[in-house]
Amino acid sequence: MSRLAVAGELATVLAHELNQPLAAVCLQADMAALLATESTSTGLRAALGEVAEQSHRAAEIVRSIRQTVRRTDVERGPVDLNEVVRVVARLLEWRARRTGVSVELNLADPLPPTYGDRVQLEQVLFNLLQNAIEAVETVHGPRVVVMETAPVGAWLTVRVRDTGPGLTDPERVFEQFYTTKPEGMGLGLAISRSIVTAHGGVLTAAPRPEGGAEFTCILPIYREEKG
Ligand code: ADP
Repeated sequence: MSRLAVAGELATVLAHELNQPLAAVCLQADMAALLATESTSTGLRAALGEVAEQSHRAAEIVRSIRQTVRRTDVERGPVDLNEVVRVVARLLEWRARRTGVSVELNLADPLPPTYGDRVQLEQVLFNLLQNAIEAVETVHGPRVVVMETAPVGAWLTVRVRDTGPGLTDPERVFEQFYTTKPEGMGLGLAISRSIVTAHGGVLTAAPRPEGGAEFTCILPIYREEKG
């Protein structure tokens, strides 16, 4: 608990300190992207567009951390999980492409919305996809990650399946500070699970019989009150 409290303190300080430089980076990235529209290099334009998008996302994460820590109301509303999956897949596309990982989306259409904080749910799926990409990078053979959404009764499921080394102890991965990565913090899945739980859902992990891991996030369908 005290290590988690320290991590919380650290997050508060970091979020505070990062706020101003990030705002500056966002502004400069937007300006550079605007200026580059004149340029003939599409590669340069794409790179600047990526810098702008990633810096805005970082600023959103900082905003979300500050809100959570300050315990002001987080922004809640209906959330389209397909859209969350698409955003996250796009953000990690370059990362996956660099190491030859293919990310396949299998999205139910139409999909009713869930209810909650979009940025927090993005963080959850970002974590799951990043972990899956990192997992498949450690093995030889097919490097495939599948993200799938589906409605099941009053619930929505999002599954992230990979062809990585799999999981020997699926519950262990949700423990705070459990990590097998040299640069890992071991907090991603612990935080993801608490976010999903706070949304009235469940986050579980399982090894796949054919190898690799599967993470399943179950969230309630949002139904608008009538009348
Ligand atoms: P971190 O990524 O910083 O290590 P996480 O909480 O996100 O923290 O993950 C904890 C650990 O769970 C990872 O270090 C890894 O050992 C294991 N893990 C997570 N996702 C997968 C996966 N898709 N396949 C295999 N192992 C995984």
